[in-house]
Amino acid sequence: AFEVLVIGGGPAGSSAAIYAARKGISTGIAAERFGGQVADTMGIENLISVPYTEGPKLVAAMEQHVKEYDVDIMNMQRAEKLIPAARKGGLHEVRLANGASLKARSVVLSTGARWRQLGVPGEEEYRNKGVAYCPHCDGPLFKGKRVAVIGGGNSGVEAAIDLAGIVGHVTLIEFGAEMRADDVLQKKLRSLKNVEIITSGQTTEITGEGGKVNGLTYTDRNTGESHHVALEGVFVQIGLVPNTEWLKGDIELSQHGEIIVNERAETSIPGIFAAGDATTVPYKQIVISMGEGSKAALSAFDFLIRNSLP
Ligand code: FAD
Repeated sequence: AFEVLVIGGGPAGSSAAIYAARKGISTGIAAERFGGQVADTMGIENLISVPYTEGPKLVAAMEQHVKEYDVDIMNMQRAEKLIPAARKGGLHEVRLANGASLKARSVVLSTGARWRQLGVPGEEEYRNKGVAYCPHCDGPLFKGKRVAVIGGGNSGVEAAIDLAGIVGHVTLIEFGAEMRADDVLQKKLRSLKNVEIITSGQTTEITGEGGKVNGLTYTDRNTGESHHVALEGVFVQIGLVPNTEWLKGDIELSQHGEIIVNERAETSIPGIFAAGDATTVPYKQIVISMGEGSKAALSAFDFLIRNSLP
């Protein structure tokens, strides 16, 4: 059995594994795909002290860093079921899709999240070539240009307000007859001169030329008419889905499916900790996930010295 078993190999999981191993306790990390969302990212410009890097390069560096320590890396392993210890300080069990079962005195859950996609033609093709999901990450790439934000919930409207200060023009497209964001955000958005709001708009295609986005097509759901908007970027903001379906019923989740954690990265079950995009911690970013992962590992170590380490 492991002292610390980390589930998920993104920035949060990598950081947790390194911090745990540095305490000299047996550490394992099981990940469906080591690197997580970072593997799907192009340019990264906000990892402090690294002015510019690229996703695959950062994934390789994270993996190399983990390998500096005695960590049992189990890549391409999907966790399917968590069975918490029957008593405090006992062994938790994690069942994998391949039928194997791992046991550990403490567990760090860091299975991340995925952006909900529109599922329209052009979205996949122009991903990272004008189609973006993270305004904090990619907003500055569109300085002075025209962008659309798809989604009029809180995240979409926040993104539109944020982007309006950087880009030339923002078109916000909301599927419903009204935006769903908080009133104060809607009011702020409406006060901005370089923002156009389209409601009852169903995005049907993201168009491009020469390998880059050049616009999008939407249908006005009131008239059935199709319109094309010329622009350079599309931010899809229709939801971030935590990879926690497999934990339902075994651990406390928020109404959005995020693992509920406190400021010590503790979950509702003693000895089980969580970090990163899969949790209720606000702002989903690499530096934040790394910080939370280290915090979860330190909390796990603290739990172990109080409850079970010899
Ligand atoms: P993830 O990176 O999502 O990692 C989750 C890990 O868990 C993966 O290894 C996954 O395979 C694994 N996993 C999931 N389910 C299971 C399971 N059941 N069993 C086992 N393993 C499982 N942030 C920035 O700070 N700067 C940027 O420039 C930036 N750009 C981005 C661009 C894109 C296109 C995207 C999608 C995100 C970007 N982000 C950026 C956000 C950043 O990538 C995330 O905040 C960060 O990766 C979250 O780290 P994490 O470890 O919590 O989760």
